[in-house]
Amino acid sequence: MSIATPIMPIWAPDTDTTDTGTEADDDAKKYSIWTIGCQMNVAESSQIAAAFQHAGLREAKREEDADVIVLNSCVVRQAAEDKVRGKIGALQRLKRAKPGLKIALTGCLATKHEDELMRQYPVLDLVFEPGAIDELGRILPELDDDLVALPHYYLPEDTAPSVTAFVPIITGCNKVCSYCIVPYRRGKERSRPVAEIAAEVARIAEAGVREVTLLGQIVDRYGYDFKDGTDLATLLYAIHDTPGLDRIRFLTSHPAYMDERLLRAVAELPKACEHINLPVQSGDDEVLRRMRRNYAANDYRRQIGEIRAIMPDATIATDIIVGFCGETDAQFQNTLRLLEDVSCDVTHVAMYSPRKGTASARWEDDVPRDVKLARHQAVERLQERISTEHNDRLVGREMELLVDGQGHGRWRGRTRGNKLVFFDDTADRLGQMVHMRVTEATPWFLRGELTAVEGEPVSGVGN
Ligand code: SAM
Ligand code: SF4
Repeated sequence: MSIATPIMPIWAPDTDTTDTGTEADDDAKKYSIWTIGCQMNVAESSQIAAAFQHAGLREAKREEDADVIVLNSCVVRQAAEDKVRGKIGALQRLKRAKPGLKIALTGCLATKHEDELMRQYPVLDLVFEPGAIDELGRILPELDDDLVALPHYYLPEDTAPSVTAFVPIITGCNKVCSYCIVPYRRGKERSRPVAEIAAEVARIAEAGVREVTLLGQIVDRYGYDFKDGTDLATLLYAIHDTPGLDRIRFLTSHPAYMDERLLRAVAELPKACEHINLPVQSGDDEVLRRMRRNYAANDYRRQIGEIRAIMPDATIATDIIVGFCGETDAQFQNTLRLLEDVSCDVTHVAMYSPRKGTASARWEDDVPRDVKLARHQAVERLQERISTEHNDRLVGREMELLVDGQGHGRWRGRTRGNKLVFFDDTADRLGQMVHMRVTEATPWFLRGELTAVEGEPVSGVGN
């Protein structure tokens, strides 16, 4: 689930981040945003970028050129936190060379520890909680007297949008899985009103976004806090007919909350993509009980069966934690057995990392690192075989692809099931919905050749 950095604002074309720049732009103050962690962080970094742009700043081509740097942090695992702390340390040199530089920290490291972090890292000018973007308004006037306003903007109207966008619909989490720090850093669940989300989706779709991914820690709990029967299915129906919008995705689902009503809505609504992110974390009932996940391995098996009964072509992704406190080899074998049974398209696997303040941090982290590593590799090997089987079956099939950028000199897009596909074409295909015959499969991506492009005769394809 981790996202590499740096990220781009949601309106920047993925193919080219280079700001060609005018003279006026050269004078403009520049920002740089460094992001690590989940899609929620990516979405919030996009909002920060939008707010900066609205305030008149431009994106720096290189971090060294920036007048203000925002670090959007993650602490879900120790390795992520170490990376953030390393990054803060590394910026000290830049700040010494450029004393006017402003550095701000947000994301899950920032929450509830503002004063402590400011004391610990004098290089930081500001620490603000996720979502509190307006706080940046406190340091901008120090860069330039004119930079005072920093409204909470999602997308400036005068910039070209990218093809896909993340839209947070519920923040926080009311669960307390014993290993997870998120509830302590993101607080209680809060859903955004349907009308507010619908207006945002309409605005970004009008600006060119064709696919939205609705985000929440437990996205299926969307609307529970309204206590009026509103749920994620309600929201899917409400935004479905948005002009210009072609695809709707959502993540992350939770086995205890994803229900049949949601699955039926996805199956019924043409724009809702049949791609389900349903982390199971472990395939052993005792481990699941100690993780406080509120379901058993067979519940998960049944649920995957239900998804496939309703949507036979659905693609499914899951998350696994290996080496949780006390996990025996036999318990780990149950996880491998479950993965084999449910045959997901993708498995994100992480080694258990104790997080201070969580329940499991008080228990002994007794699975040695080399055992965690061996289990991690065993899951990866198994998933590689399963993904190969899934993807091999797609060779020769026709698939719809939304082209969202370029990579390795080729066009790149995603199928409805979120499979990554590369293809060659000399024409500019960015933002187009194309059809493609899959010619080659690997466990991680597909290659294909164009068979049709929306609005073009078939003979115009593949030049
Ligand atoms: N809300 C989602 C759920 O309930 O599955 C996931 C959110 S969590 C931020 C993202 C992933 O990070 C989890 O699915 C889990 O696999 C992993 N994760 C969370 N805490 C972890 C920890 N202490 N050690 C290792 N992995 C962890
Ligand atoms: Fe963390 Fe559990 Fe909430 Fe997911 S459901 S964010 S794993 S506490």
